Amino acid sequence: MGTDVRHAVVIGAGLAGLAAARVLADSFEAVTVIERDTLPSASGPRAGVPQGHHVHGLLALGAKVFEGYFPGLRAELEQAGAPVWDWGEGLCAVLPNGIPQPTPMGMPIQTFSRPLLEHVLRRRVTALESVTLRDGLAVTGLRTAGPGKVTGVRVKDGDGEDEIVADLVVDASGRSSHLPQWLATLGLPSPRTTTVDAQVGYASRTYAYPEGQTSPSWMGLLQPLRAPDFHKGSYAIQIENNTLHVTLHGAGGTQLPRGDDDFLTYAKSLPGPIGDTIASLTPTSAVRRYARTVNRKIAYHRLPRWPEGLIVLGDAVCTFNPAYGQGMTVAALEARLLEQTLRGRSARTPLDGQVFQQRLARVTASSWLMATIPDRAWEKSRPAWAKAGNWFMNRLVDTVPHDPKVYTTFSGLFHMTSGPLTLADPRLLSRVLVGPRTGGSTPMPAT
Ligand SMILES: Cc1cc2nc3c(=O)[nH]c(=O)nc-3n(C[C@H](O)[C@H](O)[C@H](O)COP(=O)(O)OP(=O)(O)OC[C@H]3O[C@@H](n4cnc5c(N)ncnc54)[C@H](O)[C@@H]3O)c2cc1C
Repeated sequence: MGTDVRHAVVIGAGLAGLAAARVLADSFEAVTVIERDTLPSASGPRAGVPQGHHVHGLLALGAKVFEGYFPGLRAELEQAGAPVWDWGEGLCAVLPNGIPQPTPMGMPIQTFSRPLLEHVLRRRVTALESVTLRDGLAVTGLRTAGPGKVTGVRVKDGDGEDEIVADLVVDASGRSSHLPQWLATLGLPSPRTTTVDAQVGYASRTYAYPEGQTSPSWMGLLQPLRAPDFHKGSYAIQIENNTLHVTLHGAGGTQLPRGDDDFLTYAKSLPGPIGDTIASLTPTSAVRRYARTVNRKIAYHRLPRWPEGLIVLGDAVCTFNPAYGQGMTVAALEARLLEQTLRGRSARTPLDGQVFQQRLARVTASSWLMATIPDRAWEKSRPAWAKAGNWFMNRLVDTVPHDPKVYTTFSGLFHMTSGPLTLADPRLLSRVLVGPRTGGSTPMPAT
């Protein structure tokens, strides 16, 4: 590569890294994505993304943003077997106050495994002429020119150590990012880290779902947790290869199942159809567990200074309890922010990383509240505003099974296709504050 070629390096080929590489390719002459794992040539799980064994739902807004950057993505996933269905018609929502009736919403949703989405995005990104993916290579640190400037990365593989020069380094290395330590070597103080931990655990497995089978009648099942009474819940989606992907989850340190028998026992202990559904299906994977579900945000945007030539995004900055299904959509929104930041500027003008991190903090703010307001209810103490917010959200969710309009509005909020301001609509407020009408569905027993 010539020395005057504008080069961006992305650390990590997860979803945030792939989305960032896609938008960088519009502005940089060369983009190198560096991935620690040796990547599979087909869709499949890998060590660097252990969460890939668990149900990953892509929200409607995330699907729209990804489709914008990768036109034809939905069709490509559909060709690979990922079903498309209407959220209101195909979802079985087992809520504390009942199960809403199927309600057409005109909100198409596509369900697939996380490895399939990543595989298709990887194929699309590596087909871009300016993008090179180097896998089996770990980034071990930043290359710098003094404390104020990042000029690339240091890397290591089986053959030894090396350096890669870059005009911009994008850390998208996920929850295991070492950026705080790397910044400390540049003399920066530790950024403030905020955590909210509902102590949620996941246990997941897949089941064969033979073609033509009519049970379950739903395409997706959502059974959320809720403090203080609903400690156990589940998610299930129909995905590619006629597979039903099932995640059982529990909060507040609930013991999650490890093997065949206790997986079924746990599912059968839940109200709603999940236990009976999986009892009649054949498992096609072992039970996988995962417990690193803490909400965590690192306030990089508040550091007193920030080196030129560096930004950070994705789970490396802000992770959410996955129960709310936001991480991949937020990664897409962060890529959009990067695209907006780069658009229209001369390729030689350095990006102001500090301003970028400040804007990124605003992009994650509402998702952070959506996840942490209910999760704080599992903690011993919480501020009054969080109590009030949680009271309102519970009231909203309790109205859903009895009011199709509220169900539709709630679904827009959940899928981020409508913003939090929707909640200020007086007609919605009055429906929610009056509360659920009596009759209709039966309240669920606590778990
Ligand atoms: C159990 C679970 C379930 C989830 N369910 C959902 C869901 O339903 N919906 C949703 O939207 N989101 C979900 N998420 C969140 C989602 O997985 C992430 O938010 C999303 O993948 C974006 O992550 P990322 O790209 O920042 O990090 P990751 O996807 O974790 O990718 C980071 C990449 O960086 C690589 N890497 C790390 N260190 C280095 C290094 N030093 N050098 C080179 N490469 C490195 C890793 O190998 C990995 O490939 C879930 C998460 C978990 C844990």
